[in-house]
Amino acid sequence: MTSLSEASQCSVLTQLRTTHFALNAYLYRFRLAPSPDCVLCLVPETVPHYLLCCPLYRRQHLDLIRHLGTARLSLCRLLAAKSDPKPALAFVRDTGRFPRYSL
Ligand SMILES: [Zn+2]
Repeated sequence: MTSLSEASQCSVLTQLRTTHFALNAYLYRFRLAPSPDCVLCLVPETVPHYLLCCPLYRRQHLDLIRHLGTARLSLCRLLAAKSDPKPALAFVRDTGRFPRYSL
């Protein structure tokens, strides 16, 4: 049987990989966010922006860099099918942005 945490992790990974993740750029398409932009950077809050460069999550980016052993973060490195999903999932958990996910 799949645990809630495993199901939640699988769901989050799929959402990140398909960019159908509850960030403003996606939510705005359905009028579920007032703007598609990141509240700090005023650029579309997309999966790449969130995972790779938003300064709101600087500490979590540093954790990713430390865990992966490289400062060359990329979506491929984080989300490819052959990649270890744990760093990306830890990033999502540690940002505290999506508390309803039990990661
Ligand atoms: Zn930002």
